[in-house]
Amino acid sequence: MKILLPLLALASASLALAQAPVAPASSALRPFGLVIHGGAGVIERRNMSPDLDAQYRATLQQALDAGYAVLDRGGTALDAVVAAVTVMEDSPLFNAGKGAVFNADGICEMDASIMNGATLQAGAVAGLQHVRNPLHLARDVMEKSKHVFLIGEGAEKFAWSLGYERTPNEYFQTDFRRKQLERAKQLESRKDNGTAALPADLASPTTRDERHFIHEQKYGTVGCVALDRQGNLAAGTSTGGMTNKKFGRVGDVPVIGAGTYANNATCAISATGWGEFFIRATVAHDISAQMEYQGKDIRAAAAATLAKVAQLGGDGGVIGLDARGNVMTDFNSEGMYRAYRISDRKTVIAIYGDEPR
Ligand code: ASP
Repeated sequence: MKILLPLLALASASLALAQAPVAPASSALRPFGLVIHGGAGVIERRNMSPDLDAQYRATLQQALDAGYAVLDRGGTALDAVVAAVTVMEDSPLFNAGKGAVFNADGICEMDASIMNGATLQAGAVAGLQHVRNPLHLARDVMEKSKHVFLIGEGAEKFAWSLGYERTPNEYFQTDFRRKQLERAKQLESRKDNGTAALPADLASPTTRDERHFIHEQKYGTVGCVALDRQGNLAAGTSTGGMTNKKFGRVGDVPVIGAGTYANNATCAISATGWGEFFIRATVAHDISAQMEYQGKDIRAAAAATLAKVAQLGGDGGVIGLDARGNVMTDFNSEGMYRAYRISDRKTVIAIYGDEPR
């Protein structure tokens, strides 16, 4: 009996072990985390005051912390993306939600999209003028409508049908962005009425001024990619687009496969940059496709895609995460507001081209 009892105890313990779910143990070891951006463009040390630099870093940290907290407690990648982007949409520093750039009529007009890498479901909105957090509505399009992409008044009608509060456009407007619009209009009056095609040779000295003019009209778009403890990826991007935009112009941000893409089999990507070129190069999906069809790693794939964008004459940046938690932050502009945290490793926050990417 003395021998039998410990044997019985051992047998019942191993039975309990065999029946115990294995998921919690393995998911505890899985990498999780997120990468965020606050836009790419002509962001240089010499044009940034120490105070503004500190404000940007503090808000990036706050956004990263909001997303990380969701993942750390076992929440979904989608919830983390929404949590991080909401902080940046609510901050006047970025060109998304409050602080969005003005269109040519002096109105803030916003676009956003989100994608679930586990299901390949996606939601997108464009031309919103009265929805406080455009990314929230993009998510509701994905989860509560049978569509993927809603625009303008129709998208807002959908928001009201869900009980969203109508936010006055003045809420989004800031003096800084108004001055940017005034400057863009002054420069434009010396050029064309905004309908002229871009010069074919964008690299020539005569068009350098043109490039600078266009660069001044954008940046500050925000985005996030996340990997949760269950191994699911998600991506989301939100923007006011380009200053002085006309004729219902929509950039890459709400175009699934251009500004945003997520697929558990490859990666999650959020882009920022000169939207016209990012649409033409189908940037976010192009990175995923190289990983899927050519077996490239996320960094090599992103570098190849940004080279295509540059060849077309555009610039900007991308952030990404793959299902193993490999981080990518890359850009061919002067700088990009960016930050990431993977599992319990140290947070990285960077702005300029000479900082880690
Ligand atoms: N990609 C955005 C757009 O073209 C602008 C940006 O990323 O700053 O609308």
